[in-house]
Amino acid sequence: MKKHDIILLVVIIIVLLPIAIILLNLGKGGYAIVKINGRVMKTISLNKDGLYAYVTDYGYNKIEVKDGKVRVFEADCPNQDCVNKGYIERNGESIICLPHKFEVTIKSKDDDYDVIVQ
Ligand SMILES: [Zn+2]
Repeated sequence: MKKHDIILLVVIIIVLLPIAIILLNLGKGGYAIVKINGRVMKTISLNKDGLYAYVTDYGYNKIEVKDGKVRVFEADCPNQDCVNKGYIERNGESIICLPHKFEVTIKSKDDDYDVIVQ
């Protein structure tokens, strides 16, 4: 490989890498919408890691935001479906805890406005 071929390759990588990162991020959601009993309780940005707990008459769900993903890591529901679901990260994916009427849905940055207005 000639020297200027290497330079060309480096330039291609420098130009393409940000585009690739942007394309990869497009599929990922920007927010986690937390709903209890069909009502939006909170819109959480997935850009920041954090732990959140929701306690209702039905029971509790603790959720974790990490690396743009979200999961229910602890709950006192009998079936533990929400905990077993693990991390979700793509737009439209959701974790539902039926016994607690608890729901976490991923929404991309583009259409979160509609959700807040609901
Ligand atoms: Zn559950």
